[in-house]
Amino acid sequence: MDGGEKIAGGSPQAACRFCKAPLSKTFVDLGMSPLCQTHIEPHELNHMERFYPLHAWVCEACWLVQLEEYVSPDQIFSDYAYFSSYSDSWVEHARRYAEKMIDKLGLGGQSLVMEIASNDGYLLQHFKARGVPCRGIEPAANVAEAAVAKGIPTTVKFFGCQTAKEVAREFGQPNLLLGNNVLAHVPDINDFVGGMKILLNQGGVITMEFPHLLKLMDENQFDTIYHEHFSYLSFGTVEKIFAHHGLRLFDVEQIPTHGGSLRIYGCHMDDATHPTQPAAVALRNLEIERGLQNLAEYQKFEARVKDTKRRLLRFLVEAREQGKSVVGYGAPGKGNTLLNYCGIRTDFLDYTVDRSPHKQGRYTPGTHIPILDPSRIRETKPDYVLILPWNLAKEITTQCSFIREWGGKFVVPIPAVRVLD
Ligand SMILES: [Zn+2]
Repeated sequence: MDGGEKIAGGSPQAACRFCKAPLSKTFVDLGMSPLCQTHIEPHELNHMERFYPLHAWVCEACWLVQLEEYVSPDQIFSDYAYFSSYSDSWVEHARRYAEKMIDKLGLGGQSLVMEIASNDGYLLQHFKARGVPCRGIEPAANVAEAAVAKGIPTTVKFFGCQTAKEVAREFGQPNLLLGNNVLAHVPDINDFVGGMKILLNQGGVITMEFPHLLKLMDENQFDTIYHEHFSYLSFGTVEKIFAHHGLRLFDVEQIPTHGGSLRIYGCHMDDATHPTQPAAVALRNLEIERGLQNLAEYQKFEARVKDTKRRLLRFLVEAREQGKSVVGYGAPGKGNTLLNYCGIRTDFLDYTVDRSPHKQGRYTPGTHIPILDPSRIRETKPDYVLILPWNLAKEITTQCSFIREWGGKFVVPIPAVRVLD
């Protein structure tokens, strides 16, 4: 059924995770999909796999776009295979951020920086290198171990009000509290933001980065919707959530990561040392102008997603009919949504490659496309390389520019399928 009139079916969790209003309006329904990080090992190929609905709703009261919590975070994040350090451009982004914040906030040996979801220490290592004390908070024990090996002290816990109290008591309150690409990943967003209020020092600054919902809608980035991402965030909605917990967004930057993200700056509500900047007011107004407080705008999205799917499949069918070989590059979470929603298996992609040794030798969830070492591309000389992490297209086309030696071409699937020259 089209038109976003699907009913939540009486599910007990079908209430907005922030404001608790009932959810009844569809943003987009992407069918059934397995968890994006459950890469299949060879001995599991004949096993059954769990598929969960990938159905995003929009709350008409606060405009939070969200998935229901089909799977608990323990199942998703405790053995997370994503090591941030495997992406060069991501590590470089982190380095520039650290330099900027050290200058902007005048951080030094007396300061304290804490990062929530600090992964393998890819970001905090840049503060440590400049002599700024830091601490990570990270739920996945295996990636936290990699951080500790780099000399980054790390608390292995999910973040929320309870963890905030414990960390504040034991290690003090940070002058800079940051969390990149984590706000969308928390099922209990109130417990999480409430925890930041507790942990942040007086006069301290919070920064968070998350993909901007407006970009997702503008550029058909439906593949960024997967079970690990519970929420899809606009500036206006995050501002409401922060205000509810006594925090104020005083500034914002629009940055290019993940196809278009926001970096928000927050402080305690009554902190006069951080006056609200014009950029925050301007973005709030832009989102209103663009219809983000209007249900009809959200309901236009699903038709564009279906069109994007048809175009991609048309390209793949034609390439195969012409006898061309097509392989993938990358095995990111977004690739899983794209492959499962579009029904792309080894009938279209011979294999995909990934630099992470944790993924090599395994298979993509649901679609069972083998994940190989990137050197395989040189051996098999494919006609087309479909870039699944399209947000890293520039890095990948540079690293693999050698495919042009045999006339190979790169293809990106989003916002609409396009062969790169
Ligand atoms: Zn709501």
